[in-house]
Amino acid sequence: MRLSRKRRTTMRAVRLNQIAKPLEEAEVPVPNIGPSDALIRVAACGICHSDEHYHAGISRIDRLPVTLGHEIAGWIEKVGDEVKHVAPGDRVCVHYLAHCGTCEFCIRGFEQFCGTVEMIGKHRDGGYAEFIKVPGRNAFPLPDEIPFEIGAIMMCSSATALHALNKARLKPGETIAIFGFGGLGFSALQLARTLQCGQVYVVDINPAKLASAKMLEAIPIDATKGNPVEQIVEETNGKGVNVSVELIGLGTTMQQAVQCLAPLGRAALVGLTSESMSIFPYTDLINKEVEIIGVSDHLSTEIPTLIEFARSGKLHFPPDALRFVALDAEQINASLNALQNSIDHIRSVIKIGS
Ligand SMILES: [Zn+2]
Ligand SMILES: [Zn+2]
Repeated sequence: MRLSRKRRTTMRAVRLNQIAKPLEEAEVPVPNIGPSDALIRVAACGICHSDEHYHAGISRIDRLPVTLGHEIAGWIEKVGDEVKHVAPGDRVCVHYLAHCGTCEFCIRGFEQFCGTVEMIGKHRDGGYAEFIKVPGRNAFPLPDEIPFEIGAIMMCSSATALHALNKARLKPGETIAIFGFGGLGFSALQLARTLQCGQVYVVDINPAKLASAKMLEAIPIDATKGNPVEQIVEETNGKGVNVSVELIGLGTTMQQAVQCLAPLGRAALVGLTSESMSIFPYTDLINKEVEIIGVSDHLSTEIPTLIEFARSGKLHFPPDALRFVALDAEQINASLNALQNSIDHIRSVIKIGS
């Protein structure tokens, strides 16, 4: 349990003031909370590839300045009267979509389509700060066994990887091809295993990533050594796979993710791209009754399952994959810059307090 001794009125935040300019440190008011909100003292906040896209202007932000950071874990500092499931001092992690909770999509459990949904750390202030205000329903209890830094980073790529597998309706024993073995792919592999999948095929072009896939007993498919569809078809004795997940965001790999499917297969497309993909409707789709499924973010209803997978060790992150930085503009800017040409598994996490 960690509570600040004295109520603070201001806090440090590292903010994006201007697109493509370095983030700057600022002393800003500690947010006031409403009856349905929670104020969280941030313990860890992941520096995500999306943050660099916001910073660089690749993904548009309309309202500046804004405090970035959507991969957040910490302690509850204060809750509004209506928030009953967490209390001051509790360890929590944060679901990054702030939604109304009352519209048609929210009631159906698809809050990513809420008419007023806001991405924390993009449309409203995020976790590169000492405190953050979130709707109370976005705070999920984080068991003691899960370190804050893991609780933080799993709320983005791991949560989306789980949503992709759920959308693809992966069943026990089914084979799966994972296109792209970064943070999402690494989580997708472990989560697919937790869901008792059959053989996993990992498609990448990076030798280190392919080697680590092999170490994790997946079959590496090196896309530099020929068409991955042909390689997968050969490895599966001509059958193809039951499920594929595309995590790269290229028209070509999306096409391959569809073409490597067995009859009745499902391709879940996660990677973001403005490219188009081409398929042959008869041979690739109709003749095999395969499905192409779009995947956007994830659902708050999936988060307790994800937390339980992490608590029980089924989802884990190698300790050497994380690098820690302070809530310091210079260190955060350096981490964002490094993401522009990141090819390894290293994740930077802002750590505040202890
Ligand atoms: Zn993220
Ligand atoms: Zn809503």
